[in-house]
Amino acid sequence: MKTSAVFFTSVFFFCLAAPLLAWDGAEHSMITSAALEVLPIVTAWIGVEARKWIKIYSNYPDFNWLCFGEIIRSGAGFKRSPDERHDWNASHYCDFDEATGKGDYYAHGTRLSAELSASDGKIPLVAGDEHCQRAFKHGRFSERAVVKFFKHSLDNLRTGNLRDGIRFAGVLSHYIEDNTPPPHFLVTDSATHHAMEQIKNKEKISIRGYVPQVLFSDDDQMETTLLRRMEELGRFAAAKAPVIRELVKLKKMDEAEDLTVVCADQSAMLLADCILTLYKLCEERWPSIPETSLGVNLLKNPSFDLDRQGQNLPDDWVREWYDLTALNYQHVWNRYTARSGKACVKLLQTPEKGACWRVPWANSVQGRAGQKYRLSGFVRPESASGENYLGMLFFNADMEMIGEIRSQSVAGSETWRRLEVEATVPAQTTDILAGCFSNRNTGAVLFDDLELIRQIG
Ligand SMILES: [Zn+2]
Repeated sequence: MKTSAVFFTSVFFFCLAAPLLAWDGAEHSMITSAALEVLPIVTAWIGVEARKWIKIYSNYPDFNWLCFGEIIRSGAGFKRSPDERHDWNASHYCDFDEATGKGDYYAHGTRLSAELSASDGKIPLVAGDEHCQRAFKHGRFSERAVVKFFKHSLDNLRTGNLRDGIRFAGVLSHYIEDNTPPPHFLVTDSATHHAMEQIKNKEKISIRGYVPQVLFSDDDQMETTLLRRMEELGRFAAAKAPVIRELVKLKKMDEAEDLTVVCADQSAMLLADCILTLYKLCEERWPSIPETSLGVNLLKNPSFDLDRQGQNLPDDWVREWYDLTALNYQHVWNRYTARSGKACVKLLQTPEKGACWRVPWANSVQGRAGQKYRLSGFVRPESASGENYLGMLFFNADMEMIGEIRSQSVAGSETWRRLEVEATVPAQTTDILAGCFSNRNTGAVLFDDLELIRQIG
């Protein structure tokens, strides 16, 4: 009885999303940061993408779940979880979509870890949930994910797609890092498990002074080399795991943490090696961030008509809630009163802090200081109050909003009317997001047919 409870706990941790699983987001970010810190040649090349890699991309597989964007339990009540999954297009970059069933889910741990954390040393055939069962059955463990996403990253970098190349490298980082949380290599109870993967002082994760190595120079060596290095990394962490468990049992938490940090550092070293190898493999033709085109509509799906995979949401738009505790208001994909085409979007009963439909971060426009943009679109208020407008948001390299431009606001009731606003991009801007906004609206407002155009001058 007791054994099976422990067994289940172990498998449960192995299968499910953060924060129960493996490293938490902050550890993933710190390990990625440590790896990039010893590669100034790479960070100089990828510029602002390095910060997004650290903050967002290395956590991709941990927010690729359907609960993002939904109302979830929070303590005794409920709250909204922001829709990071759509905002960053996590399902695309992880190549697995729980909503459509497309793609393949990979376990957040290696085969070795699955074997060692099972009480009988065998990979369980009935475990966790369907994701886990299929991943186990088809051998989709972290080491295979590392091979797959290394290749995706390389393919994109070689064909000139820097942003996608770095995003796939972010997923690659995650699966390398998920190879080293020590409690994933033995059978333990949940309290010990949690204590064993805590790194309170995340600043300790550092490989300063490490000189990254090129892992291979020929694509043919990719698979065998990466699998071997992942195996070695796992064996390293597995050897430390029982020692850390003893230290935790003896309440020697600082010593336990120091050894856990050694494991995290090892994954930073392999990640640094992988990044340098990617860089070297496409050194001759590495891409750069392209200039934003002039005179064309930069918005994808500007009329909100497309929903290619039947998700009941318009493609290439994301819902944002500025008050996650106000649960009543709604984002509606409206197929009844569209101005043109099949659909438009609606915001209903928005609270004080407001809400919007906007361009997802995954498609942010890479604007630069001094450039000029014009945003236009059609709006249709229905007994609307408060403020209802089109807007452009400007962000710096740390994804902090540093400016905002709004069109005229509309209220009351009327049929479709055009709004337009122009802006010069403020200093320090790296990303522009555009969207349809509403706040303090007791009625509704609809939007359709938007255009965002970079202008000459
Ligand atoms: Zn993970």
